[in-house]
Amino acid sequence: MTAHTALVPPTSPPLPADWARIEQTEAGVRVDAVVLPDDAAQARALRRQGTFNPLAYVIARSGVGIRGADRYCDTSDREELALALEAARVVAGRVRALASARDARERDALLALGYLHTRDTELSPCVNADASDFFDYPQLAFLPQPRQTLERLAAARLLTRRFHERTHVCRDCGSARVHAREVCAQCRSAHVSDKQVIHHYRCGTQRPKADFLQGTTLVCPKCDRELRHFGVDYDAPGVIVQCDACGEVATEPAVELLCGDCGGRTGADTADHVDWHAYTLTEAGRVACVTGRMPAERLQDRLMAFDTWRSPESFAVVTDYCVKLGERYARHFVVMALRIADDQALYDKLGPQALHKYYDLVVDLLAQLLRKTDSVSMIDDEILLCLPETDPASFAAIEARIRGQMSQVLGIGEYIEARLLDAEQIAAFLARMNADA
Ligand SMILES: [Zn+2]
Ligand SMILES: [Zn+2]
Ligand SMILES: [Zn+2]
Repeated sequence: MTAHTALVPPTSPPLPADWARIEQTEAGVRVDAVVLPDDAAQARALRRQGTFNPLAYVIARSGVGIRGADRYCDTSDREELALALEAARVVAGRVRALASARDARERDALLALGYLHTRDTELSPCVNADASDFFDYPQLAFLPQPRQTLERLAAARLLTRRFHERTHVCRDCGSARVHAREVCAQCRSAHVSDKQVIHHYRCGTQRPKADFLQGTTLVCPKCDRELRHFGVDYDAPGVIVQCDACGEVATEPAVELLCGDCGGRTGADTADHVDWHAYTLTEAGRVACVTGRMPAERLQDRLMAFDTWRSPESFAVVTDYCVKLGERYARHFVVMALRIADDQALYDKLGPQALHKYYDLVVDLLAQLLRKTDSVSMIDDEILLCLPETDPASFAAIEARIRGQMSQVLGIGEYIEARLLDAEQIAAFLARMNADA
């Protein structure tokens, strides 16, 4: 019985009985493990081609400079290879259990999560002098931008991160392949040296030792007296840095980064830095990759970016104010609620692409609708709007506009429901907010 399939180079020894061997990827054939060719460049090209599942277990020959494999062994040795395939079987089982991405745009993110899940490991960056970032994640070489993807996933709390290393980068080209050295703060020459300082007690002069030397005796360059006894006539309080190019003297040298990629020079004090992290999967991340879908970006997070966003508490204060103005000066205002379909219902009916579109649309609609003096908040799954100086009679027109735009873009208008709150409902809402507070 051949339960698993390995993609191998033609030179590879026979595989264990339950492994089917293929030497070229074939459409529709699932690849569980890949034995990379010994040539590092060929191996890289094969992985970049992406003709097999990027999460397939990767076996490489040790000592030939292939990075990011799951296992290194002597791939020409039948027994070593069999042991490696034994380990591959465990990972292959987990890879097979993953659902494929429901939304093609989330494929990279789900693959990164899938790697961490199927390897059940922390993912750390590796130093790489061939990369201008100086670090990379060779295990995720199939992704266009592994670090950006991982950072995004960490921000979404699907991964946790742990500080690993910090690189400083060239101001001109962003490369982290920079060489740090001490330079003169005045002329930026690296030709600087440490000089012993002599302090002549009697006249107070402090100068580099070289200024005192006349042959083998020390003579003060200021008062011309000879310095005989250390601790009596003089002492040596420390070291200064002197530039051999311009003569500038400083207590501490400046540090400058010389870029190995563009030759640019960046003062270390002004250089930007990049922090590299190791990542582990969170439970939410595990659920996302096993089910093949990312948690919907919460609508509220996006509404909170609006200038008109109010916390439910502040929204209640604004609404209360409008009620009082209305009672006292007969000013119009509208308080309305928009009920949006819940995430799961939308997923099931429209698929994840439509969900993105749906949220985009709601955000766009509100951005158009809201004036600077309006307020928006969200309680449970209802969006609340308070529109001062608005005639309740215009509500029907507002609602028609919202539904019209919804159906124009989504083909359906039923996923949003707008209702006008009457005085009684507003009072009930305010009472509830006060009770909560
Ligand atoms: Zn100098
Ligand atoms: Zn002196
Ligand atoms: Zn540079």
